Amino acid sequence: MLKEKLYGKTLNELIAVTKRIGLPGFAAKQIADWLYKKEIQSIEEMTNLSKKTRERLANDYEIGLYAPENFSESTDGTKKYLYKVLNDKYIETTYIPDNERATICISSQAGCKMGCIFCMTGKQGLQGNLSSNEILNQFRSLPEFRNLTNIVFMGMGEPLDNISEVLKSLDILTNEWGYGWSPTRITVSTVGLITGIKEFLEKSRCHLAVSLHSPFDEERRKLMPIQRTNTVEEVLDIIRKFDFNSQRRVSFEYILFKGMNDTPRHIKELARILNGIKCRINIIRFHPIPGSQFQSPNLGTTINFKEALNAKGILTTIRASRGVDIQAACGLLSTLEQNKSE
Ligand code: SF4
Repeated sequence: MLKEKLYGKTLNELIAVTKRIGLPGFAAKQIADWLYKKEIQSIEEMTNLSKKTRERLANDYEIGLYAPENFSESTDGTKKYLYKVLNDKYIETTYIPDNERATICISSQAGCKMGCIFCMTGKQGLQGNLSSNEILNQFRSLPEFRNLTNIVFMGMGEPLDNISEVLKSLDILTNEWGYGWSPTRITVSTVGLITGIKEFLEKSRCHLAVSLHSPFDEERRKLMPIQRTNTVEEVLDIIRKFDFNSQRRVSFEYILFKGMNDTPRHIKELARILNGIKCRINIIRFHPIPGSQFQSPNLGTTINFKEALNAKGILTTIRASRGVDIQAACGLLSTLEQNKSE
């Protein structure tokens, strides 16, 4: 019989576990401590629970941590790990060291149904939602776990299309009974799912990143089908009305495609639609995927684009391309692995 996994459960879920096996409520906090503060691998190690209690727990539950199956390392130190999820699927988790900073890029789904045409993960289609166990295991079982300073939910999948498991993970990461991380060190990225953004803003205190890629409706629709039902205008409307505190940040991701969305017309329109929103734009260089006709503009064009936006008062940065020599485009490595096992 498959045992339920304890790792990835919120405090409320652990309270339900303790009730189910007849333990007092405070035992849930003790179990959370073992799971998220002490680095145990087995129920046997929960030594402040009686031997009998541990046996009762171990009858129906296991910790549920597992190591990545494989990894590739870039010459720049970036590492891409492959974790097996949902029995036979693969997801990617990226570790990006950068001086004092070390960021993990976490996946929230195997594949994705959003169909952005520049994305390899989108080509896989949705293969399944990850549980909070599978989301957080990427973090906890990362060999560089202890170095991490930042977490971004920008790996495979659309986090807000799996919002309940993502919110549970954020709960565990940021609560005092969990990892106690500051929400200002965690960013969740979305294509712009309206109901998901509302729920995320209300229920979490983490940063929000919205994939924009074009300020023009028709052009964005061609790149990202989600624009048909969840327009950027609606997304901006929610952001304008939400009361962000000084700690919480909203940013817009903008992949530059040569000759397509890198013109003065785009700069002007970006400045117009983002007027009045305290935000930043992150310019991302396009990582080619097989069969795509898109290209990245040269560095000069990219820098000019950034400076023109800064001159219009929109704080704009260029995200450094990392791991280019190890299938940097999200979804490439897992697609190769999936093909191997089929
Ligand atoms: S870019 Fe993100 S939302 Fe779009 S298909 Fe890829 S994984 Fe999904």
